[in-house]
Amino acid sequence: MSHAPLSYIHPSAHSPWSTYLSQVDRVLPYLGDLARWGETLKRPKRALIVDVPIEMDDGSVRHFEGYRVQHNLSRGPGKGGVRYHPDVTLEEVMALSAWMTVKNAAVNLPYGGAKGGIRVDPRSLSTKELERMTRRYTSEIGIIIGPNQDIPAPDVGTNPQIMAWMMDTYSMNIGGSASGVVTGKPIHLGGSLGRVKATGRGVFVTGREAARRIGLDLDGAKVMVQGFGNVGSAAAELFGQAGAKIVAVQDHTGTIVNPKGLDLSELLPLVKRQGGVAGFAGHPSGAERIDDEAFWDLDCDVLIPAALEGVITPARVERLKAKLVLEGANGPTLPEADDALAERGVLVVPDVICNAGGVTVSYFEWVQDFSSFFWSEDEINLRLDKIMVDALRRIWDTADRYRITLRTATFAVACERILMARQERGLYP
Ligand code: GLU
Repeated sequence: MSHAPLSYIHPSAHSPWSTYLSQVDRVLPYLGDLARWGETLKRPKRALIVDVPIEMDDGSVRHFEGYRVQHNLSRGPGKGGVRYHPDVTLEEVMALSAWMTVKNAAVNLPYGGAKGGIRVDPRSLSTKELERMTRRYTSEIGIIIGPNQDIPAPDVGTNPQIMAWMMDTYSMNIGGSASGVVTGKPIHLGGSLGRVKATGRGVFVTGREAARRIGLDLDGAKVMVQGFGNVGSAAAELFGQAGAKIVAVQDHTGTIVNPKGLDLSELLPLVKRQGGVAGFAGHPSGAERIDDEAFWDLDCDVLIPAALEGVITPARVERLKAKLVLEGANGPTLPEADDALAERGVLVVPDVICNAGGVTVSYFEWVQDFSSFFWSEDEINLRLDKIMVDALRRIWDTADRYRITLRTATFAVACERILMARQERGLYP
């Protein structure tokens, strides 16, 4: 049975939604009778587009495009971040929400998948403008979010302060205190210890397990990181502590390298101060600036894409030296590049498991908020590590059994859970 493509988006060949659809097509043959429900995965349950008008500091009025997409709610409330970026589109948010559905099921969290976004460069706004935009956006999507309906969190371009404004706005609107409506909040507002570094930690834990299984010693391994925000920097720090050398880092400001390993104890505070890595070039501890495209030719063992979608293309795969790719970002690898990596024997730990540490600790935060009882950071990290290790083991076994990539195996484990819930709940009416 073939269904007509969705009329309200026009995905191009390499767009995130097309990438996601081809990932679904690859898993359907492994789902047995549940494949009957496969079309469920290919259309979001609900997509809300909102106009976000705000008064700018200079007295003018600007309008921003905002979205909240709930891709699937079969396993529980929607869950997923909010992205502030000038390239946000409905289609991108749809893909990100669908990846949340798969990710949440892959680590067996009791959530569906959702994502939101505003088409804006947050760096171009003052703090007050950012606050007004966040509050208006929260009010506009307030009709579909809630602690039991859909729980936003940080993503690219958003942070704990923005989550605090969202929590406050939602709480004011309902006339009560609803800390469980968003996760990734500041600690004083019901945030969880360990949340900020959780995604990077999950990247490290899954990377460590994968490295062990392919016989790659992390002590002395050469690691390159693309994107040095919350995810990339926390992952780099943990790899550094495990003895790896961070030989190159790229972000929106530029690319810096040191084949002997960048000094993270100097780099991390500088990035905090300056908002990017470029200023580290020429540092006495050793760092040279190179052309951004030359990043892909560097000698390395591990690549961690931790920025945006679609950066690993077939052409770049041909140049890549890494043996292991750890997807800290969502959707960094195009489907043809995925095939090329598999052909070259490069192991990819896919986004939908690799970066699931963030939403896992979001889940811990939500549980702590509901019970108003807070855990220690050690407890959180222990539970996080166990969930990630167990999930990866199951995915690894599935990949071995069917001789498929870790990505298709993660989709197989996750989509079975999602479609089983779909089938058990049944169609209403
Ligand atoms: N934005 C993060 C992700 O892509 C975290 C989502 C969450 O914590 O809900 O997984």
